[in-house]
Amino acid sequence: MLRPNPNYEKLKDSFLFYETKLRANDWQEAHPETRLLKLGIGDVTLPLAPAVIEALHKAVDEQARAESFHGYMPELGTAFMKRAAAANYARLGVTLEPDEIFVSSGIGEELGAVGSLFARENRVAVVEPAYPAYVDTNLMEGRTVVPIPGTEENGFLPLPFPGLEAELVYLCSPNNPTGAAYSREGLRRWVDWANEHGAVILFDAAYEAFITEPDVPHSIYELDGAKNCAIEWSSLSKSAGFTGTRLGYTAVPKALVRAGKSLHAMWVRNRSTCTNGVSYILQRAGEAALSEEGLRQSRANLAVYQKNAQLLTAALDACGLRYVGGKNAPYVWCRCPDGMGSWSFFDLLLDRAGVMGTPGVGFGACGEGWFRFSCFGRPEDCAEAAERLKALLKD
Ligand code: PLP
Repeated sequence: MLRPNPNYEKLKDSFLFYETKLRANDWQEAHPETRLLKLGIGDVTLPLAPAVIEALHKAVDEQARAESFHGYMPELGTAFMKRAAAANYARLGVTLEPDEIFVSSGIGEELGAVGSLFARENRVAVVEPAYPAYVDTNLMEGRTVVPIPGTEENGFLPLPFPGLEAELVYLCSPNNPTGAAYSREGLRRWVDWANEHGAVILFDAAYEAFITEPDVPHSIYELDGAKNCAIEWSSLSKSAGFTGTRLGYTAVPKALVRAGKSLHAMWVRNRSTCTNGVSYILQRAGEAALSEEGLRQSRANLAVYQKNAQLLTAALDACGLRYVGGKNAPYVWCRCPDGMGSWSFFDLLLDRAGVMGTPGVGFGACGEGWFRFSCFGRPEDCAEAAERLKALLKD
C-alpha cells in the first residue's frame, strides 16, 4: 500500500498568516468606518520598473513571430541572464563565473530543491526567528533541525559557538523577520566556522538591496573563503518588485567541495534533471532589472519602502519601544510593550488602532514577545500607522 511521507506529520499548521488575515478581516467588518492599515505582509506594493516592462513587452512580441520565437530555455539559465547576474556580483566586487550562477524562478522554489544535495543524516542549524520554509523544507525531508536563537542580547545575529553540531546552517542577512544584518566580522566568523567544520552555509540574500550601512556585506562571497563553504540565493522579488513575476538566481561556486564531491557538479545534475528552465520572457525581464537603468529605476521604489521604515522607527522611538531593523531591511522588529506576548500585542494594535502587523512568535519560539512591521505598505498607510501607534502607545 502507498505510504505518504510521514515527515509531513512533523510540520506545524501554517497558521500565522491565515490567522492574522482572519482576525484582520473580522476587525474590518466590525469597523467599516476605519481603514485597516496592513503592515503585516512581506509583499511589495509598487509596480515594476519601466525598463522591465519594456523588456517584457519586447520579449512577448518576439514569441509572436516564428523568426524570433523561443522554445525550451537552457535548464541552468540563459547566457544573457547569467551574464547580467555575474555583472551584478561584479558591482559588489565579487567574481563568479556565469556558469557558477543558476537562474531560478525565485528563492522559494530553490529552498526545497537544494535539500536534494545533502543526505538525510545531516543536522541543520537555523538561525531563528526565521523564514519558516527553512525549517519546514528540512522537516519534510526528515532532517533534524537545531534552532539557534536570535535574542536581544546577541542583536538577533547569533554567532557560531563551541559545541555547535550541524553540517548545514541557514543564514539570512539582512534578515526576515528581524531586519538585523550581519557585519563583515560576524559573517567572517560563520565562514571560518563552516570551513573549519566542513559545513555548508545556505545564505539567503533576498534583502541585500535594502542595505544602507557600509560594513554590511551584500553577498557572503565578499568574505574570503566563502566560495569554499556557501551557496547563495538571490531574488528579484523584493529588490525589483518581482514577487508576482518570479525570477532569481542561485550561486553554487565550483570551489564548493565536500567529501570529495563537487556540489556545483551535483547541482548541475539536479537542475538539468528537475527543471526545464525559466521562461524566456521572464529572463529578459530579469536582465532588464539588473541593467544600470533597471537598477536605478528600482532604487526609486526601494527609497519609498526605506522612507516607510524611517516613519515607523521614528514612531517607535517616540513611544519608547525597543526595536531592531529598518536600516538595512524593509522590516522593523519591535519589542512588545509591558511584557505583552506577540499575539496580545497583535490584538491590541488591531483592536485599538486598526493596524495589522505580524506576531513575532510565528517565526520561531524565540520571537515570542516581539512583533514584525513590514515596510512594504503604501506610504500613506505607513504614515497613518505611525500616527495611530503614537496616539495609542505614547504616554
Ligand atoms: N527568503 C526570504 C527571507 C523571504 O522573506 C522570502 C519572501 O518573503 C523568500 C525567500 C522568497 O523569495 P522568492 O519570492 O524569491 O521566492
